[in-house]
Formats: sequence, C-alpha cells, structure tokens
Amino acid sequence: MFEHLEKYAGDPIFRLGEAFHQDPRSQKVNLTVGLYYDNEGRIPLLKTVQEAEARRNANPQPRPYLPIEGLASYRSAVQKLLFGANHEVLRSGRVATIQSVGGTGALKVGGDFLHAAYPDSEMWISDPAWDNHFAIFQGAGIKTHTYAYYDPETKALLFDQMLGQLSALPKHSIVLLHPCCHNPTGVDLSPEQWRQLIPVLAAGELIPFLDIAYQGFGAGLQEDAYAVRAMADAGLSFLVANSFSKNFSLYAERCGGLSVVCSSPDETERVLGQLKAIVRRIYSNPPMHGGQVTASVLNDPELYALWEDEVAQMRTRIASVRQKAHEQLSAKLPAYDSRYFVTQRGMFSYTGLSTAQLQALREKHGVYIIDSGRISVPGLNTHNMDYFTDAMASVLR
Ligand code: PLP
Repeated sequence: MFEHLEKYAGDPIFRLGEAFHQDPRSQKVNLTVGLYYDNEGRIPLLKTVQEAEARRNANPQPRPYLPIEGLASYRSAVQKLLFGANHEVLRSGRVATIQSVGGTGALKVGGDFLHAAYPDSEMWISDPAWDNHFAIFQGAGIKTHTYAYYDPETKALLFDQMLGQLSALPKHSIVLLHPCCHNPTGVDLSPEQWRQLIPVLAAGELIPFLDIAYQGFGAGLQEDAYAVRAMADAGLSFLVANSFSKNFSLYAERCGGLSVVCSSPDETERVLGQLKAIVRRIYSNPPMHGGQVTASVLNDPELYALWEDEVAQMRTRIASVRQKAHEQLSAKLPAYDSRYFVTQRGMFSYTGLSTAQLQALREKHGVYIIDSGRISVPGLNTHNMDYFTDAMASVLR
C-alpha cells in the first residue's frame, strides 16, 4: 500500500549529531544541533525548573485536559515576557495568545491560520534561513520565497537590499523575521534598523511573523524583545511565535506560544477562536507539565528573578566562548578575520567554511559542523576550545 513512498532522509542536523555520537574518537567536538550546553558539555536542568517541579511534586494534582488554548497563567506570562507587563496592547486586550507545542507548534498553527485568513498570501523568509521554516510553512500550504539578509563576504546584514525587497512586496505578503539571535547567522537588525523597517512593513500592509526562539540569549530578556514591542508600539497587526525550549532548557517539554496582535478586542476574540479551531483539529490541547512549570517560574517574582539570573549565566557563557574563540583564532591565524565570532550574537555563528574545510574538520579532527557552516557556539567550552581553534587553524591555513 505504501511502497511508492520515498524514504525520509532524516533531518540533516539530527543526522550529523547522530554521526558525532557514533564517532569512536575520544577527542571530538559537537557543534551541530542548537542546544545550549554548559561548560562541562551538559544540558542544564535549571534550578528554577527543579524548584517549580519540587513544589508541584509536593502537591500532586490530577491531569485533566487543558483548555484548547492552554493554561491561562501561562498565556498571560508569555504575553508579559514578550510585550512587557504594562504594554498598551495587553491593557486594551488586543493580543490573542495560545500555549503551543514548542516554537515549532506555534509556527505551524500560525501558518495554518494565515493560510486560511489569506489563502493567496505568500511568505518571505531570510536568506539563509532555519530550514524548517520552509518545511513548516510549505506544509501549511503557503508558497515561500527568500529575501536578502546576509552577505557571506562581509558576514554582515544586507539591510538596504532587505529593505528594498520588502518594500516592493504585494500587500498582505507574510514576512518571517527573527527579533533576536538569528538562526543560522547570528546577525540581527539593530534597534535603529528595526525603526526603519517597521514603517516599510506598515506602508506595504505586510503581515510580519516574528519567530523568537532565543529570548535572553542576545542582549537580555527585555532587550531581545525590542522588535516585538516596537511593532506593537507602531500599531501593527502581527504574529509572534515564542519558545521556552532554549531559555528554560526544556526542549522535551515542548513549551511555546503563539500570539497575534490585533486591532480591537473583538477582532482578538475572533482570532483566538480561529486559533482554537485549528488546534482542536490538529492536537486538541497542549500538554500540562512544562506549561505549569514555566508558568510557575514566570509568575513567581522570586523564581522569576532567579530564572533571569540563570538566563544571564547562559548568555554570558556564550559571549565569553565567542570572545575566547576570537582571541585564540586571531593569535593562531593572524591573517584570518575571526571578528564574526564576537559581532554575531546568540547560539549560532556562521563561519563561511567551505565544504572541503568542513569535511576536513569532521574527518581529520572530529569537529562536527553542519553543511551550511553554522556553528552551535555553546558546544565549545574551556576544555575543547584549544582543540577546536587548532583544528580550525589547520584547515584554514
Ligand atoms: N525557531 C527557530 C529559529 C529555532 O531555531 C527553533 C529551534 O531550534 C525553533 C523555532 C523551534 O523551537 P522549538 O524547539 O521550541 O520547537
């Protein structure tokens, strides 16, 4: 019955991670998947998560279905984190938020929602992109295109080209944007560039779809939400998909949110209803555990302060790893410009290494980097930094 089906090649990033684990060499470095590791190469279990779980375990509760839209305490906490507690869009009841199955689930529900609301709208995604963006939105029936974003020569943003291209799009085109820590390049718009972009989005009546999966890993939890808040300040209608996979180190719990900023409370109610209708026919309602844990941290001032601190530790470690990589590479290979390690932000650095260099790193040195040359920076630590920069210097020489 299904013999005609093609084999699934697997996700190339997960596949390479698998190859790393099967590599028998003791000296090897995994820079593939976007997971935050601590300096000992472990995925942290945050103290605030442990405390919230201990409190829950002390008071066991039954597990009925959650509402289709998720936990109310979670949804309001997501809104405060994205928009700031007192933002006018929240006070005026103009944001429809659902608890989603990770950031990916938010993108999928948002994709289905937009395709139903604007069946002819097409989507523009940065070049290069997180590959799953294409798969998710094409899977929702939306035609995808790319806009200029990153210049491999300068390793910087092609802002003028991006602006020019977006200003020429047909009305109601959907534009996928990363408020911070762009995956895969680590290159973000500055606040000044967002201030220039927002009127272009408004004038073209475009539909911005913001994907924020690394809030707190760039400049800070509040700072990283700049684009979200600036767009809300400007009175735009837009979507935001957020994820707690990274900043709560809760990958397996699938905690995310989809928020749609609307123009009136009445419209918000209708949008929320449509989101619920979509969720009901895909997975009916979200899981409980991760939502309750994150909501208890976000809603408890003491735990929230501790969590901010834990996020700051992750952010600071990433920044110090970036600095160290740059210093060591400058010393070992003065002719090589490694400044991109410190100018790019968040989990990822885009190295621009060639296929041959990536292959040599993998085969000769056991340093695993995905084919685009994107490095997941937290895979580096004080124990493997020397080894990594030696390997880089040897293939770049
Ligand atoms: N969006 C971007 C840009 C990501 O990098 C990721 C995860 O890697 C996601 C969304 C999805 O996050 P989640 O794991 O919560 O589904």
